[in-house]
Amino acid sequence: MSHKPVRPQLDALRWREVDVLDYKRDGSAPFRDVTRQVLFNLPSLACQLRYFEVGPGGHTTLERHQHAHAVVIERGHGRVLVGDAIHDLAPHDLVHVPPMTWHQFVAATDTPLGFLCMVNAERDRPQLPTAEDLARLRADPAIAAFVRT
Ligand code: MN
Repeated sequence: MSHKPVRPQLDALRWREVDVLDYKRDGSAPFRDVTRQVLFNLPSLACQLRYFEVGPGGHTTLERHQHAHAVVIERGHGRVLVGDAIHDLAPHDLVHVPPMTWHQFVAATDTPLGFLCMVNAERDRPQLPTAEDLARLRADPAIAAFVRT
């Protein structure tokens, strides 16, 4: 992918030469109402910067993987599970998801949740929780009430 030096924003959080994609192409992972835009995919940096938007009440996949995420909340409100804790999210909050840490973003019911997410361009496939993993997570009542699968 070669980019022009500047690609203007066309509309709120839509950019020239950036397609709005399905969150995941593989239909096997559960999620609800999430779009993905790849803003930068630069071999010289070995990373990608993506913009995700979760619609009101939607959620990303509960997953973990070896690669990390560096996330900047861009708009809206919601919550995120990182490891064994749930955090409220508001614009400009920063979220670090370390390797092999369960995580899931959930938008508030009345607003979308939009965020930038930086990842390694070369990365392992996300793992979904097994029944045992879910049982362990759900041992915490707050997590049991939070996770969407
Ligand atoms: Mn992830």
